[in-house]
Amino acid sequence: MPTYEYCAAEGEKGCPACNVGFDVVHRMSEPGPALCPRCGGKVMRRFTPPGLVTRYNEKSTLSDANLKRHGFKTLRNEGGGRFRVT
Ligand SMILES: [Zn+2]
Repeated sequence: MPTYEYCAAEGEKGCPACNVGFDVVHRMSEPGPALCPRCGGKVMRRFTPPGLVTRYNEKSTLSDANLKRHGFKTLRNEGGGRFRVT
């Protein structure tokens, strides 16, 4: 089933959840939620092209440079049960 993103409808004050937007998985034929499950405010579907991840890009999020910038270390499998910390 496809994932749809919903966010606070225009003119709605919203809460942290619907202001940022949240994902809902439902059938294309089914209507999505009309109200925010958190605050009960009106929500609308945010149209995003299929297959396009808008909030983050996994490739750049998991890039060595980005991980290093955020203080993460990565373990590289060097084979034979050995890992190298980078
Ligand atoms: Zn809300």
